[in-house]
Amino acid sequence: MLNSKEESMKDKGILIVLSGPSGAGKGTICDALRKRMPNLVYSVSMTTRAPRVGEQEGVNYFFRSKEEFEKLIQEDAFIEYAKVYDNYYGTPKAHVMNLLNAGKSVILEIDIQGAMQVKESFEDGVFIYIVPPSLEVLTHRLRDRGTDADDVINKRLSLACSELALAHKYDYIVVNDKLEEAIEKVASILRAETCKISRNKEKIHYIYQKYLEQGE
Ligand code: 5GP
Repeated sequence: MLNSKEESMKDKGILIVLSGPSGAGKGTICDALRKRMPNLVYSVSMTTRAPRVGEQEGVNYFFRSKEEFEKLIQEDAFIEYAKVYDNYYGTPKAHVMNLLNAGKSVILEIDIQGAMQVKESFEDGVFIYIVPPSLEVLTHRLRDRGTDADDVINKRLSLACSELALAHKYDYIVVNDKLEEAIEKVASILRAETCKISRNKEKIHYIYQKYLEQGE
């Protein structure tokens, strides 16, 4: 149990939203951030899409049927959900709220429709859009990944174009050309966010009281 001094000096949990087209490198960036920042927890989404080769239940996603997903929508079990490429994707509410309340930072890797829903209820969330340097690079990355058929890739490419027009709704944009640089940029954004005055009112108050006591 922390005492009140330790409590006010502790960094508070932040809700971080990462979006960007499939193939932008969000997953790789997320993995690298979690290794660097132990206080950061990845929120595992729920989806109705079929698992890809190598994907694991509860690690990459919670894989559910359409019926189960729709039942959970009725039960208000999601912070947000959206239909992306004909499948449902959603962020389970209870787990994320528990983590935030415990002071952990939580990272959501979600699409733009979901991000805009989150923005309505989490004003102090940090919204970061990851883009590949060009459509050509994105096309190569999706083909090289070898996980999607051509018609799915074409859908993803056209969605990437239309979504880029909405990138201004985010707080930050990071171009993932060189992976290491992109990771470092996102890490710098998160470090700066923890120092924001608006997130540190208790800390400032505590230091201020100390100054007063020492001046007496
Ligand atoms: P994929 O099928 O490639 O894993 O993901 C497809 C898209 O769904 C990606 O843009 C990804 O960010 C998005 N996505 C994954 N999980 C969620 C979620 O919980 N909510 C929303 N709104 N989008 C998600």
